[in-house]
Amino acid sequence: MRLDSLYLENFRNYVSQRVDFDPVCNVICGENAQGKTNLLEAMVCLSAGKSHRTRSDRELIRFGEAGFRLEGGVYTRNREFSSRIEVGYGRKKKITVNKVPAKAASELSQVLNTVFFCPEDLQLIRDGAAARRRFLDMSLCQLRPRYAAALTEYQRLHEHKTRILRDCAERPDLIATLPDFNLRMAETGAVLIHYRARFAKLLSRYASAAHGECSGGREELTVSYRTVKTVSDPFGDHKLLVLQLLEHQREHHYAEISSRQCLSGPHKDEIEVQLDGISARSYASQGQTRTAALSLKLAAREIHKEIIGEYPILLLDDVLSELDPKRQEYVLNRLGSGQVFITCCEEDRLHSLLKGNVYRVSDGVISSP
Ligand code: ATP
Ligand code: MG
Repeated sequence: MRLDSLYLENFRNYVSQRVDFDPVCNVICGENAQGKTNLLEAMVCLSAGKSHRTRSDRELIRFGEAGFRLEGGVYTRNREFSSRIEVGYGRKKKITVNKVPAKAASELSQVLNTVFFCPEDLQLIRDGAAARRRFLDMSLCQLRPRYAAALTEYQRLHEHKTRILRDCAERPDLIATLPDFNLRMAETGAVLIHYRARFAKLLSRYASAAHGECSGGREELTVSYRTVKTVSDPFGDHKLLVLQLLEHQREHHYAEISSRQCLSGPHKDEIEVQLDGISARSYASQGQTRTAALSLKLAAREIHKEIIGEYPILLLDDVLSELDPKRQEYVLNRLGSGQVFITCCEEDRLHSLLKGNVYRVSDGVISSP
């Protein structure tokens, strides 16, 4: 899979820019605040339908403009595709693949997949469970359209149930609607657990291999998936998962009403990362944290390859310069056959390490080689 070309119009600090890429390696350099990260963000948008950095599409529109457009020329499964997103301009968000309107944003990820790594990804290890759930969701939504649909539905139900719990003290009649929500949340929740358990297992295998190599075999990384307590086996049968989720909801019925919060369900899932048997979140050093976060991302890339048969494009934002030369070399050697985009500052000696196209970004304008 590769991104051959990209067109940006009124996206962040870009006015109107077309750029063609190298099939293997693209180095994007420039001074601070010129548009390097924005360019990678545009690629994430074209694969996920939204940005990983913001919740609102409006933030992506260039200041003072009415909307933005992105268009990518992608080569995958031996065919060429054209993915397009249009936001604003007084209309509803419009996504098309080969000029055909898409029903859901997940259609974009059937064309282009991205794995993005940046310095803030240290949060993947350091922060609470929500950061790792987001990583899991972002990866799985790209891989499994059924997961993406279940997640959207689950989040909708969760928000609605939370509103009911908040309001039911004033309106006790709302309590009668809870069983219906609980059943539908258990049904969709079981789908999430099914996919998450399998993804976590693969993640553990690939991330521990990557981390082992990167640390010279000195450290062992493990990833384990923890979901709702009553679930005896997350790999279990769908019907059994639903029953076990319902059981947990029943146990928490009164606690949910008195706390006015939704306490039961896979929205509280955790992916625990350990180094040599102890929590990475609590004990890992700066360097170990960086290596562990990178290992998770490289693992996600391998899982994509295993499931889809092609490497997703790898977006490395400002990360190589932070690694010591041994780790830089390790990462670059591991890139294998996929396409990669690497941003760096002008003075980095990175472009001498890499073979590929070098682009200079200055104030939202890209000059090609
Ligand atoms: P650094 O090396 O510091 O990471 P960068 O080249 O990655 O810099 P970007 O994050 O891509 O920089 O941002 C470039 C500029 O885009 C910033 O100055 C930011 O203020 C500007 N910018 C962000 N959003 C918008 C927007 N919606 N409209 C116009 N400009 C924007
Ligand atoms: Mg940046």
